This record gives sequence, C-alpha cells and structure tokens, in this order.
Amino acid sequence: MSEHVLAELRKQLDELNLQLLTLLNQRAKLVREIGEIKKKQGVNKFDPEREKDMLDRIVKHNEGPFDDHTVRYLFKQIFKASLDLQIEEQKKTLLVSRKKQAENTVVDLKGTLVGNGTPVIVAGPCSVESEEQVFAVARSLKEQGVRLMRGGAFKPRTSPYDFQGLGEEGLKILRRAADEYDLIVVSEIVNPGDMEMAEQYVDVIQIGARNMQNFELLKAAGSVRTPVLLKRGLSATMEEFLFAAEYIVSRGNTQVMLCERGIRTYEKWTRNTLDISAVPILKNESHLPVFVDITHSTGRRDILLPCAKAALAAGADGIMLEVHPNPAVALSDAKQQIDIPSFETFMKDLRASNLMGNQER
Ligand code: PEP
Ligand code: MN
Repeated sequence: MSEHVLAELRKQLDELNLQLLTLLNQRAKLVREIGEIKKKQGVNKFDPEREKDMLDRIVKHNEGPFDDHTVRYLFKQIFKASLDLQIEEQKKTLLVSRKKQAENTVVDLKGTLVGNGTPVIVAGPCSVESEEQVFAVARSLKEQGVRLMRGGAFKPRTSPYDFQGLGEEGLKILRRAADEYDLIVVSEIVNPGDMEMAEQYVDVIQIGARNMQNFELLKAAGSVRTPVLLKRGLSATMEEFLFAAEYIVSRGNTQVMLCERGIRTYEKWTRNTLDISAVPILKNESHLPVFVDITHSTGRRDILLPCAKAALAAGADGIMLEVHPNPAVALSDAKQQIDIPSFETFMKDLRASNLMGNQER
C-alpha cells in the first residue's frame, strides 16, 4: 500500500518538476523580451532595485514550508540564471566573438598569414630614430626571416619632455626600409585624423595600450581598411579589450589582431604583469589572432625567451619584441630593448624550441 502511495507522490513530483521547468522557461522568455526593450533604450540589464522589489513581493506571499531566507536564495538563483542568459546572448551578438564566427580570422599581410596556426614575429625598435637605425634592424629581420617590422613614429610618452617620435617622417623611414627588404610595417597611430595619412606608409596600424579606450581613435581605425593591431589597455579587463576590438570590427574593418602586453599589478620586478591566461581565454572567446608583446609586458631582457615560449605554448599567433642596434642610446625604452646579436640568439633559441611550427629556415 505505502509502495503505491510513494509511487503516486513521485509521479506528482515528476509532474511538478516539468511544470516548474515550463514556468522557468516561460519566465526566461519574458526576461529576454524585457532585455531586448532595455537594449533598445540603452538601459543596463541588471536592475538591483527591481530585483529587491520582486524578492520582497515573493517573500510577502510565502506561506512555507520554505522559510523566507531560502525562498530569497532560490529566487536569486533564478534571477541570476536569467541575467547570465542575457549576457551569453549579448556575447553571441558581438562580431568579435567566437560564438558569432567559429573559424579563426586569418589576416593576410602581403602574403604573411597571421592566425593560421604558424606563429609570426614582430620586431623592431621602440621608436624610429633615424634611417640608419631602422635599416640596421630591417637587415637583421630580413636575415632572420622575420617579415613584420615595428617602430613607433608617434610615441605616447608618460612625460611631455620625453622624445615624442619623428611623426610622418618616421613613417616614411619605416616604409623605405620595408620596401628595401620586403617587410611589413607595424606602427602606432595616436590621432584619429592621421589614419588616412598613415595608410600611405604602414601595413598595420597599431593602437597602443594607452589608447585602447580612445573610442574616436577606434572608430577611425574601423573606418579604414588597413589591418589593426590593438593592444590591451594597462588595466583593461579582457571583456573591455574585446569591446574595444568590437568598435573597430563593427565599423567594417574586420582585420583586427589583439595584443596582450601586460597589465598593471603591484609587482615591481617586471614592468607589467604578463597575463598568459589572456592568450587561451581570448582565443576561446574570440576568433581574432592574439599576439603577446614580451618586451613591454616584462620590461626585462633576461626573461624574453621563456615568456615567448610560454606565449606560444598557450596558443599565441605571434610575438612582439623590441630590437635596437644600440639600446643604451635609445631615445625610448632604453632599458628593455635588445641589441641585434641578442635578437639573433633569441630567434635561434626560439626556433630550436619547436614552438614556431614548420617554418623554413
Ligand atoms: C609600443 O608597442 O610601442 C608601446 C608603446 O606599447 P604599449 O602601447 O603596449 O605600451
Ligand atoms: Mn617601447
């Protein structure tokens, strides 16, 4: 007899579970509709006041056997799940999201592919200082089979009294060296009004860490068709980083590459803290190629090789580093740039690690 009662009660429980499921999903659909309206109004999805009102009203009607505390807890979980659903949906709609595009974006830089599984190196001086300096580095890159050359002509310096870069003249020097040695020019642009001028000389527009949330600059980079290397802000979360990339991609420039360059923490023995976890996370969350700048993240010459290996092992599509013919007299970042012989040793050691793929050399 009691067996029969138990079976009957269980049957009722199963039915209630299904009813709860239907109600929960009905609720989720309503929340989604509200979310759509809020999105159009540009209002934040999470509304703590409204959540408090709903919880108070529910608890007022609570007749037990659950106590009020438990009821609050249970409904908070339901509210949170609905909010998470909206966030997931928002992520799906981001153009830079892996959920929107499953396959990797591969950026074609005059035949050098970035993001196709074979890592690339970007190397060159912090700042363009002279024709001689850039040509010396360019020659070494050519010898090493490194095609991407960096060099800053517009330098965002902490002190206004420090060297600010050669401006357009610096871009011209980079272009001449790149044409001579068949290299790709990567250079930072800081002014939205300079994008079109820059396109005459550079193959990749770099947006620096300090400008990751310069939204007018991002919009300007989105309206040209030159590929962009976007660096992570000094204290930007990965989410903010991807939103910054979205600014560019949503304007029609889909050729965006991300660059982790270290974030600010309390640690003093490195210039910044290299966030290796950003590499696999950004690769999972987004289809854009991911670089790691081992120079600005560490600010130290002695750990470049292990950090480059770690970045590649974590799935980075490329490594950036600063190389100067005579770092001691460099006009910026003199302490962290490496000289040409050290760069050649670095390349040899990195290739020996087998993390660079099957590159011919
Ligand atoms: C740079 O790469 O030249 C540079 C200034 O780096 P960041 O913007 O990452 O500080
Ligand atoms: Mn630098």
